[in-house]
Amino acid sequence: MGMGDAPLTPLEQPVTGVRGVGPERAALLARLGIGTVGDLLLHRPRRHEDRRRLERIAALKLNESASTQGRIVAQGVKYWKQRRKSLFECVLDDGTGRLHCRWWNLPFMENYFKVGDEILVYGRVRSLKPRGIDHPETETIEGGDDRSIHLHRIVPIYPLTEGLTQRWFRGLIWRALEAYGSAFEEPWPGLDPGDLPMRAVAVRQIHFPDEMDDAEAARGRLALDELIELQLAIQRRRRRLHEHARALPCGGDNRLMRRLLGSLGFKLTEAQTGVLREIRRDLAGSHPMRRLLQGDVGSGKTVVAACAALMTLESGYNVALMAPTEILAEQHGRVFARWFGPLGLGVALQTGGQKTLLTAPAGQIAVSPAGPGDAQDPSGTDAALAGPAVTVGTHALVEAGYCPDALGLVIIDEQHKFGVAQRERLVRKGRYPHLLVMTATPIPRTLGLTLYGDLDISVIKQMPASRGRVRTYLRAESSLPKVWGFVRQKLGEGRQAYIVCPRIEERDGPADVKAVREEFDRVRTLFAPHAVGLLHGRLPLQEKDRVMEGFRAGQIAVLVATSVIEVGVDVPNATIMVVENAESYGLAQLHQLRGRIGRGPAESHCILIAAACKDEARRRLEALEETNDGFRIAEMDLLLRGPGEFLGQAQSGVPRFRFVELARDLALVERARTAAAGLLDSGAA
Ligand code: ADP
Ligand code: MG
Repeated sequence: MGMGDAPLTPLEQPVTGVRGVGPERAALLARLGIGTVGDLLLHRPRRHEDRRRLERIAALKLNESASTQGRIVAQGVKYWKQRRKSLFECVLDDGTGRLHCRWWNLPFMENYFKVGDEILVYGRVRSLKPRGIDHPETETIEGGDDRSIHLHRIVPIYPLTEGLTQRWFRGLIWRALEAYGSAFEEPWPGLDPGDLPMRAVAVRQIHFPDEMDDAEAARGRLALDELIELQLAIQRRRRRLHEHARALPCGGDNRLMRRLLGSLGFKLTEAQTGVLREIRRDLAGSHPMRRLLQGDVGSGKTVVAACAALMTLESGYNVALMAPTEILAEQHGRVFARWFGPLGLGVALQTGGQKTLLTAPAGQIAVSPAGPGDAQDPSGTDAALAGPAVTVGTHALVEAGYCPDALGLVIIDEQHKFGVAQRERLVRKGRYPHLLVMTATPIPRTLGLTLYGDLDISVIKQMPASRGRVRTYLRAESSLPKVWGFVRQKLGEGRQAYIVCPRIEERDGPADVKAVREEFDRVRTLFAPHAVGLLHGRLPLQEKDRVMEGFRAGQIAVLVATSVIEVGVDVPNATIMVVENAESYGLAQLHQLRGRIGRGPAESHCILIAAACKDEARRRLEALEETNDGFRIAEMDLLLRGPGEFLGQAQSGVPRFRFVELARDLALVERARTAAAGLLDSGAA
């Protein structure tokens, strides 16, 4: 140990300090991420087994999981197919009946048991005559003075790695608890855990609870601690920003915004105006804005972003807008150029290493090369605006040498596609510019507070009027011919359609999952003479442009695409969407996809084709037939599929939790948030 190193606390001791752990076992524990005593004691059991009342063999019920116990009365391995297949079977007897435990193709299991052994088994009863369990979990009961650790109590069952047994690991935890359990101090003395146990109690009860409920309460306490730690980090960052960063004055004076609003051709909804008021307050405030704008697909976030940009430009600062895909960056570039060009503002597009000026700032048209604040500037544009006022780009904005003067506002579209780290890098390009992140993925509140806890949240809850309804239908693959007939009819009426497939090429995945390239060929024949386009992420940029342009202009009637069209693409005349292999997407993603239609006044139709799939998968998809409420769908997705879907790349910003379960811990997340604020206010953390 070098000079100045603090001595290790008991929980920081290497796990080899616990009796019974030598170098070999330590290597196995390392595979579980266990290096220290603290890691060991926070290794979360996968489940608990109530061994106070084990089921008698005679009472086991078909198809139910149960734990039982008995003595091995017979065992042996059968082989067939030249010994390539095998079955190891051992028969338990507990005096009430016999139970056949079977393992297929694991003949070495024979070495683990012998007739006369007393064993515990856990598993689902697959048959009653004879009573049988396939591949049960087992544990041999041994004599000795540690029997009370493993029997006649609620015992923990852990996720382990090969070479470690439940019994050994449980004994290790027991010994570690005896020696180090009291070392778990309350992390924040000011914290009132309320109905949850103290941390040291929780650590004991997560392993050896007195009652099943105690294990859940213990998990709650340990999860709360994880969440408080995260919230402290988030809130500290925010407080630091408030202390150190003076906001750039970007509230604007309305002169450009008034002109844009007059030329739009529609009136902002009340929801949009409300959000703009919040944004203006932020932009004119004393701390840099950090705001998340949530609004379902099609709710009109882009125009809100444009207005925020104008407030900033009116104030003499530049704006950067980052989108997750090139297609989307170009679409935004085009929209902003159309809206801002007439106002004499420059809009540039930065994708890859390439920068294109979409509209030149008014001051640069006649005089070239124009210096900043050119005297002949006819519109009287502010000095800082002489360059492109708005730069739209992909993540190239983060990487490329993009470093604008006077960056006042950073807008990030579809935030969930970016990591927190990328967001931070872009924001650091200026002198604490304001930040507006937008997302159409309705994020369940637990995740919102966890992922974006450092952002204020605005929600656009209302859709622009004049939107046609989107009807959604779930169909089996066998009805495809009828579906194509329907699409053809709509094409005949002058409508356009999206056909979405999960993969690019057939060799990319299982054969029953449709691939766009092959589907493109089929669909082209099917819908001739209507023009069909192909769009996926691996096409060269120019090709993507050409196809999107053709579709937007109506020259292409049908677009066969992967989910690259998921975000943002806006073609109001496209009113039909067919999603093949719908079962391979998450609900939230399908909801995003279907947001591509229903953008004009006409009624739209989304047809989900589910390949032969389980009832469960069908029921999941039926939710989309029933509701158009993105938030409800997102909550369901979180429950059904866990947080991965939402996290995407944003995962980099979320710590790996041991005890938190985002799908059901909303109350804890909120409690942690309040607790963290209280701790920071009182100086206790
Ligand atoms: P999203 O929130 O999904 O990004 P967009 O900003 O792309 O939605 O808006 C979808 C469409 O609705 C665009 O064509 C946009 O011009 C239009 N739109 C936005 N606000 C309104 C409104 N208040 N009234 C009518 N149409 C609107
Ligand atoms: Mg959008």
